[in-house]
Formats: sequence, C-alpha cells, structure tokens
Amino acid sequence: MTTGVVFTEDFKKHETGRRHPESAGRVDAVARALRDPSLRDKLKPLPPRSAEREEILLVHWDRLYQEVLESAGQKRTHLDSDTVTSPDTANVAHLAAGSVLTATEAVMDGEVQNAFAFPRPPGHHAKPDKSMGFCVFNNVAIAAQYAQKRYQLKRILILDFDVHHGNGTQKVFYTSPEVLFVSTHQSGAYPGTGELLEIGKDEGEGFTLNVPMPPGMGDPEFLRIFRDVVVPVGLEFAPELVLVSAGFDAHRDDPLGGMNLTRDGYAGITQEILRLARSTCEGKVVFALEGGYDLHALEKSIVATLAVMTGEQTPEAADFSKAAEELVREVRQAHGAYWSSLRES
Ligand SMILES: [Zn+2]
Repeated sequence: MTTGVVFTEDFKKHETGRRHPESAGRVDAVARALRDPSLRDKLKPLPPRSAEREEILLVHWDRLYQEVLESAGQKRTHLDSDTVTSPDTANVAHLAAGSVLTATEAVMDGEVQNAFAFPRPPGHHAKPDKSMGFCVFNNVAIAAQYAQKRYQLKRILILDFDVHHGNGTQKVFYTSPEVLFVSTHQSGAYPGTGELLEIGKDEGEGFTLNVPMPPGMGDPEFLRIFRDVVVPVGLEFAPELVLVSAGFDAHRDDPLGGMNLTRDGYAGITQEILRLARSTCEGKVVFALEGGYDLHALEKSIVATLAVMTGEQTPEAADFSKAAEELVREVRQAHGAYWSSLRES
C-alpha cells in the first residue's frame, strides 16, 4: 500500500505573525512528522502544484479571488478579523488548494493508494464569498468540485473531524445530493454553526450530517460516533472518493479546542475511515490538514494517522462509551428518515 504525502516548506511563506495560533511553526511540526523513523520508506512525496484560477472559481466568487490577489506584495491585510495575509499569502493559498488537487489526482489516477496533503493556510471555514477563520480558499471543497468535474464522480463523501464546524464546506454543498458532508465538532465552538438539525436543503436534504459533541468527549466517544453513525451512513451512501478535512485540534492538548482525543483516537478514527473507503471505493481517501495548534500533539497525531494509512495495524480499540449513547440516539432521530442504516437498531 503506497501513501502519498503532499508537502512543501513553501507553506511557511504565509506569515500570520508571532502570536497567531495558525503559525508557520505548524509547517515544521508536519516536517518532523514526515521524518519520523517509523514512517521511513513508507511515504511517497508528491510536490504540490498551484491551483489554477478556474479551479478556485469552482467554489469561490471572483470578487473574493480578486481580494486575495490584491493582497499579494502587501505587508499585511485582513480578510476577516482573524484571517491575515502576508506578501506571499496569495501565492501560497494557490499552492495550498493545489496540494489537495495533487493528492486527489494521485489517488484517482492510481499512482498511490491514498494520500495526505498538508496545505497551509487551511480551508474548511472559507465560504464562496468570504475567507474566514484562518482559511483563505476552501481547499477541500475545491478538490471535491474538481473531482466531480474531472472524474465525473457522482458521490463524494467529505468527512470533517476538525474540532470546529466546517461551515464553508457545508455551505458549498448544502443543496447537493452528490456530496455528503459529515462533520464531528465541538458543540458551541467557533464558528457557531453545525447544529444537528442543519441537514441540507432542497435536493441536498439529508446530505449534510452534523454531530455536535459536548466538550470533553474523547477516544471512546469519537469511536462510538464513527462506528454507529459515520461508517454506516458512509457505507449506505457508497462514495466513489472520500475527502477528509483532518483537523487535529480535538486533541486533548490543543489550546483552541475543548475535546479529549489522543493520538490513539486519531489512529482509531483513521482505521474506521479506511474501512469505509475499502468497502466502497477501493480505499480511495485523501486527507487534507485543517487545524491543530499544539505543535507536539499535531506532529504525533499526524504520525499516528499516517501509520494507519500506510497499513500499520493498530489494536482494535474499544468504544465502551456510555456518554455517547444519547448523542447517537439524537443523530438517529434527526437522520433516520434519510438513512436506513440509522433505523435498524
Ligand atoms: Zn479547527
């Protein structure tokens, strides 16, 4: 099994300033993870390409695109209160979006079994008309639209396990039955969206599935949610490609999140995602980095995730959580009308 990794030190050229949590130091944490001795010779490095204007416009309004271009060469502009640019940000943002396209092409063309792209800036909060929440372009949404177009895919699953709700991605696909968006996130955290009853609309009704989780939930609860909700619904949807918005800020050490995941939890989640993808689309999975702000936790969680992606077996983790039972019941109630796999038990 070959796993592609799409990474470049150029992602450091997006400078957010010393005190910003989404710092260039995150790129060093990724680089350390990729050099981890346990992963030696198991990863295939893939240099990212830059996304083209037309590819970015698959998701974003031209006005936003121009706004980002105009930031080029300028010392500092604010796209929103917490999303800043430096002179190179416009270039780097094209490379960030392009990195997920590179990963998607490598997986779809059979060059690798699965792939992990490490774009910076991240993407899942960026809406068609607005950069926000540290995100300039919505890297994963662009990749999904691109895959639909280039490979004529009719069913793409986007899984977002960042601690924050992927409001931008949800918005892009809210009326589409061709992209199932599933998000686990901390209830009440930024940006405040992602409630259980946001389920999509018009033809897309039922194709948005939010699991807002109370703060403090950890490995057993996440595993329970993945085994009882995410995997069954994913199997029923039967995607042709799985894209993962992989944020590591639900880690217990993360300064922005209030959840309790460990690196073992991320390994367990990844195992479930791969199981789902192997059953439905020959294991075609593309991970794309979103958040994750404790640099040590970020590094170790990425290593644990890549270990599973490259085929390392981890011990079957138990999902003995009682705390998640109520949440599972609520999700079944909200979504049972759309997915028979949520009605059976
Ligand atoms: Zn986040």
